[in-house]
Amino acid sequence: MTRRNANRGLMTTSIHAGEGPDPTTGASAPALYMSSTFVTDQVAGFSAHNLEEQAPYLYARWANPNVRTLEAKISALEGTGDCLCLASGMAAATAIFLTFLSAGDHVIVSDVSYAGVAELARDTLPRLGMTVSMVDMSDLAAVSGAIRPNTKLIHTESPVNPIGRLTDLAAVAKLAHDAGALISCDATFASPLGQAHVQMGIDLIMHSATKYIGGHGDAVGGAVAGNKQLIDKMRTESAIHHGGIMSPFNAWIIARGMATLPLRMKAHEAGAMAVASWLESQKTVTKVIYPGLKSHPQYHIAQQQMTNTSGMISFQVGDRERGEAIAQQMIDQFEIIHYAVSLGHHRSLIFWMGTDALMETSFRLEGDQLQSYRAYAGDGVFRLSVGLEDADDLIADLGRVLG
Ligand SMILES: *Cc1c(COP(=O)(O)O)cnc(C)c1O
Repeated sequence: MTRRNANRGLMTTSIHAGEGPDPTTGASAPALYMSSTFVTDQVAGFSAHNLEEQAPYLYARWANPNVRTLEAKISALEGTGDCLCLASGMAAATAIFLTFLSAGDHVIVSDVSYAGVAELARDTLPRLGMTVSMVDMSDLAAVSGAIRPNTKLIHTESPVNPIGRLTDLAAVAKLAHDAGALISCDATFASPLGQAHVQMGIDLIMHSATKYIGGHGDAVGGAVAGNKQLIDKMRTESAIHHGGIMSPFNAWIIARGMATLPLRMKAHEAGAMAVASWLESQKTVTKVIYPGLKSHPQYHIAQQQMTNTSGMISFQVGDRERGEAIAQQMIDQFEIIHYAVSLGHHRSLIFWMGTDALMETSFRLEGDQLQSYRAYAGDGVFRLSVGLEDADDLIADLGRVLG
């Protein structure tokens, strides 16, 4: 599916949005502005509430040219009015919760989500007086049953880290809006190219820019895209008051990586498709979850809402003991794939995620919710982030331990 935003294709948008030749030097590439403050001709006026559209730069916690370039690129790709970049994906998630929730509010969070987000939702938000329901968002009846009169926000993640389970985003967005709540989606696995979030009704689109957006494993960052009113509110609260801003250098290097995002996503998808198909053909591999494979339990949702199925594969090799033994062989024998956490980089990364350990530290699921998790993950999965190497070389590396 080809997507276009604001009359330009997404490849052109990734390269040119938010930047242009330097008016004083003619430099074609963006300069790096390592300036914490900006000289002004205004005698006074120093408040978090000076956020007019064309306000001059004042102080880097409000805005910085490099951070604005990255924000413009992400909002142009997502087709939102604005975007706020922060120091990490976790800072972006925290910004959503702390801007749009107060003590006494209720929030529904995907019961499987990035571990840091799950822990924040389970431990920190209740301490601040919010009520949290952790819900399996692949079950629409469960989402609708969890809604209360004081539900202010539904926070989804699709595909979910680390098991690749999907949420019908348009359907959950409708449930949120019918209840007068906002809906946010952690779209890190999908990237801005993987789903048309605005068309599906997502109000706040969150990314760990450390992953696909930056794409090269050399900078940590986070982003939330949304309409100008919501993003202004977040900028005041989370950037200006809480202070977890993105550094100009990180914005500069992430924007540089982002120029090739659409190209990279096509290559990640093609590589992952080849590797996932190979994995499926191996006797040692007991299950493969990849949204581009017909065998994905929610393949119809992937077909309906994903415009790129990305590079994230989960696969199983049997019980925990076997998984841990194979993980050790990978550490010892892999020549290309790095055994490391994180994802979305040009280098392929793999990590073993044991179900019992994750339940204890992060997810704490029971009953039907635990069963749904186990249906995707068994006793544990290898989370493989397929990079941009030749698929044949990745398959040869995997073949050293799985063949
Ligand atoms: C990595 C990740 C995060 C956290 O991002 P950081 O940049 O590491 O803080 C949040 N959500 C998902 C889905 C992630 O993969």
